[in-house]
Amino acid sequence: MSASRLQGIGMTSARTRDRLVQRLQQNGITQPEILERIRNVPRHLFVDEALSSRAYEDNALPIGQGQTISQPYVVALMTQALLEDESGGLRTLPKALEIGTGCGYQTAVLSPFVRQLFSIERLAPLLSDTRDRLRALRVGNVRFRNDDGFGGWPGQAPFDGIIVTAAPDQVPEKLLEQLAPGGRLVVPVGPDGGEQRLLRITRTDDGLRREDLGGVVFVPMVEGREKGSR
Ligand code: SAH
Repeated sequence: MSASRLQGIGMTSARTRDRLVQRLQQNGITQPEILERIRNVPRHLFVDEALSSRAYEDNALPIGQGQTISQPYVVALMTQALLEDESGGLRTLPKALEIGTGCGYQTAVLSPFVRQLFSIERLAPLLSDTRDRLRALRVGNVRFRNDDGFGGWPGQAPFDGIIVTAAPDQVPEKLLEQLAPGGRLVVPVGPDGGEQRLLRITRTDDGLRREDLGGVVFVPMVEGREKGSR
């Protein structure tokens, strides 16, 4: 990858990124380290080159296979929901699981805040491009798996955080089971095209605590793995 493509020029320049970060700040993303990470992850490299001039708009964009790269605000919000501690600071998680790798943008944003990140994607063709992309960006603490995320990753459980970037109709039981004590699940729940709510569910000493973080729009979480071909 050339240095100029990595750094960005014109519509992918530093100034364009600053505007995006300002917008997220105005909308309630308060953690400076998360804002800095959003500024530094080159989102234009996660979308088709024809769309790179739109990469720093605060919108979802198509990434092929009928899937989308999430809106930066929602990525920042979910990252913050997973990591913020009771006193308003940010914690580093020993072990986290992501369901719905897609193009790997959320993966890249989250990676410096967790020691070990595990990420599951059901569509094999998306995953192979994403592995290459994240390697090129030197994101090295992630293990990927082509599988159905409804099952979680039992061999690596329990997790201190689980983040789901596709919407199931209901909170997946197996993911709740794979939460460590104090662990959090951040998941959009609701029907495809209908009302979806972003939930944060925390495993406390007294059971599961559930918080509603607002309305969101995600592609549906779909059962089964697709090995597929291009
Ligand atoms: N995290 C991405 C967003 C990806 S869109 C980003 O940062 O932009 C949602 C992704 O979830 C799609 O790639 C879709 O294939 C995947 N997905 C849907 N259902 C799934 C399932 N059951 N298991 C794993 N991945 C799933």
